[in-house]
Amino acid sequence: MRVLFLLSLLIVLAASPGMIAAQETPTPVTPTAPTGTPRPQPTATPTPRPLRPGRVWPAPDPALAKEHFWLARPFAPPAEDDIEYWYPFGTTGSGQYLIHHGVDIGNPMGTPILSVAPGRVIVAGEDLTATYGLTPNFYGRLVVVELSQRLGEQPVFVLYGHVQTVAVAAGQEVNTGDRIGTVGMAGVALGPHLHLEVRVGSNTYNRVRNPDLWLRPFPNQGLIAGRLVDEKGRTWPEAHVLIYKVERRDRIWRELYTYVDDAGISPDDAWGENFSIPDLLAGDYILETKIGNRIETLPVTVQAGEIAFVLWRISADGSASSSPTPRPPRPTYPPPMRRPLPML
Ligand SMILES: [Zn+2]
Repeated sequence: MRVLFLLSLLIVLAASPGMIAAQETPTPVTPTAPTGTPRPQPTATPTPRPLRPGRVWPAPDPALAKEHFWLARPFAPPAEDDIEYWYPFGTTGSGQYLIHHGVDIGNPMGTPILSVAPGRVIVAGEDLTATYGLTPNFYGRLVVVELSQRLGEQPVFVLYGHVQTVAVAAGQEVNTGDRIGTVGMAGVALGPHLHLEVRVGSNTYNRVRNPDLWLRPFPNQGLIAGRLVDEKGRTWPEAHVLIYKVERRDRIWRELYTYVDDAGISPDDAWGENFSIPDLLAGDYILETKIGNRIETLPVTVQAGEIAFVLWRISADGSASSSPTPRPPRPTYPPPMRRPLPML
C-alpha cells in the first residue's frame, strides 16, 4: 500500500524524460501507475551529470542560529505522519517535477488534517481566482494560517495545500491539533496528500522555507541539515547526496539532491542550508557526494530532537573541508504525538 501511495503522490510535470530513465529503478507493482514515478527505494548509481556552482548562497544569521521547531505534525494516529523523502523541499524529485516549495505527507482522501501551530486563518477555500502558487488552481483548495509567533519581526505562515474539505474560515483562530480540513488532491496533484509549506515574511510563493527545519522531530529522531558550497561560498545545486548508516556502509539509506539554484528557493535564515534529511533515528551516519571526479564523505552524528548541521565546503577541484556548527542549548518541547516505524 505504501508503494501505491508514493506513486500517487505526484505533483505533475516532467522535466526531462531522459534524466528519469537514467535513474529509475523499475517499479514492481501498479501497472496503472503514471510513468516517471519516483523511486521509493534508493539506487546505488549516482547521476553522472556535470555540476556547476550556483549563486553565492545566503549565509546563516548567527543571531537566529538555533532550532525553531514550532510545528507539530499535522496527522494523528493511525494516519501516516512521515515526510515523503523522495521529493524534498527545494528539489525537483530527481528531475521529475516542479521545484518543491514545501513537503508532502501522503494519506488517504478524507484523512483529518490538524493544525500544526496556533494562529489565525487568513485563507480558507479554493484558489481559482487568487494565486497562491504558480497559477490559479495550483493548490486547488487550501488553508493558510498566520502563526501567533513571529520570527523576529517577520510573520510566519503555514500553508496546507490540495485539501479535500476545509473545516475553518478566514479570520478564525486555531490552536495546535484543531481540525483544519481533510486530505485531498485538489489543484495540481495526482494523488491524495497534504502539501505543507512554511512562508516567512509574507504569504507569497517565493518566500518559502524548508518545513523540515520547523517540524518537531519524533522521539529518538533528529535530522541532518547541511550547507554544501564551494570555496567561494557558492551553492552546489542539485548535487547528489547519499546517506549511509555507519554500520551499514554497503546500503544506501537515503539519497537526495541539494536545492536548485532558483530565486524562489532560499535557505532558512537561521541555518543557511541547501539540503536536509528529516526523520532520522539518532545515530551515526555518513554523507557522500561527488563533485567533479572525486567522491567526498562526511560523518555526521544525529541526536534525538536536534538538527545535526554540517558545513560542507568542496572546491571545484574536489578538495573538501567541513566543520561542525556550535550547538545551541537544547530546548524542550511538548512530546510529539507518536513515534513512527523507521523507514525501510
Ligand atoms: Zn508538495
